[in-house]
Amino acid sequence: MGRLQKILIPLLGLVLAFWFYSARDTFKPEMLRGKRVIVTGASTGIGEQMAYHLARMGSHILVTARTEARLQNVVRRCLELGAASARFVSGTMEDTAFAQHVVREAQTSLGGLDMLILNHVGASYFGFFDGDVEHVRKLLEINFLSYVAMTTSALPMLKESEGSIVVVSSMAGKVGFPFTVPYSATKFALDGFFSSLRQEFAIQSINVSITLCILGFIDTERAVRAAAEVLRERPAPREECALEILKGAALRRRELYYRYSSTRLPLLLRDCAAELLDYLVRSRYR
Ligand code: NAP
Repeated sequence: MGRLQKILIPLLGLVLAFWFYSARDTFKPEMLRGKRVIVTGASTGIGEQMAYHLARMGSHILVTARTEARLQNVVRRCLELGAASARFVSGTMEDTAFAQHVVREAQTSLGGLDMLILNHVGASYFGFFDGDVEHVRKLLEINFLSYVAMTTSALPMLKESEGSIVVVSSMAGKVGFPFTVPYSATKFALDGFFSSLRQEFAIQSINVSITLCILGFIDTERAVRAAAEVLRERPAPREECALEILKGAALRRRELYYRYSSTRLPLLLRDCAAELLDYLVRSRYR
């Protein structure tokens, strides 16, 4: 009996703790109702789908990318789906001044900001590293420096709202991937910057959450065009991916993995069997 109690009581404690934490962590779409959100890279792909989910949840949405015609369609659709408001700013994230301009636009038109979703990605090639240093520099400007510039400009508003920063990254930003060397470099840089910034927020008691999203292969047009023939795995749906990112952001998670089975689970090998993980990554390619 005594032994049974010794097992039962801790077990009951574990079950209660699990129940408490999972109950606390339930996502509700109302969490994003009325929130003022910027989504970058929202003319296509995952960003576009995030805009539509936010619209259904009743958020105020500011979308940005380069292609004005596509952004106009996204805004129209967001309004049809129930967005509290929707607008766009078009321009290129190669230009730091444009990144800052988008944030100023949120200040002027929305009167503040609750969530900054950094999602855009510049075009790169799929193949062996070709030694083009200028391409790496340009990609760093689009995929990394503009994220830093937008975060810096948005921070006063996010501090005021105790808001959130969402950084869309990739498995290629956690482990070495072949054929995407410049892209991987920019995604690793994001992890370094935002994980360090999160530490500083903790030290300074700044209540702004940072959610780093580690994505596997997703069925967006560009990714499928670039990799479907060489990757053995099937891409995951972008609509579901977009929703999972928003849930993770609303729950202020530090990292989000989608899909869990193709991202978080293999990454468990990183510290104990790095070479096995490298081999598994290489074996994904035909
Ligand atoms: P996508 O469909 O190619 O969309 C990229 C977006 O970025 C578009 O809206 C594009 O619009 C915009 N963009 C491109 N260059 C830009 C520039 N110079 N300035 C401003 N905006 C620019 O990409 P996605 O597949 O949805 O990926 C979204 C995010 O998920 C990215 O951060 C990507 O790294 C990450 N991710 C994707 C996958 C995947 O398999 N799809 C996997 C892992 C991680 P315009 O062309 O109109 O500017």
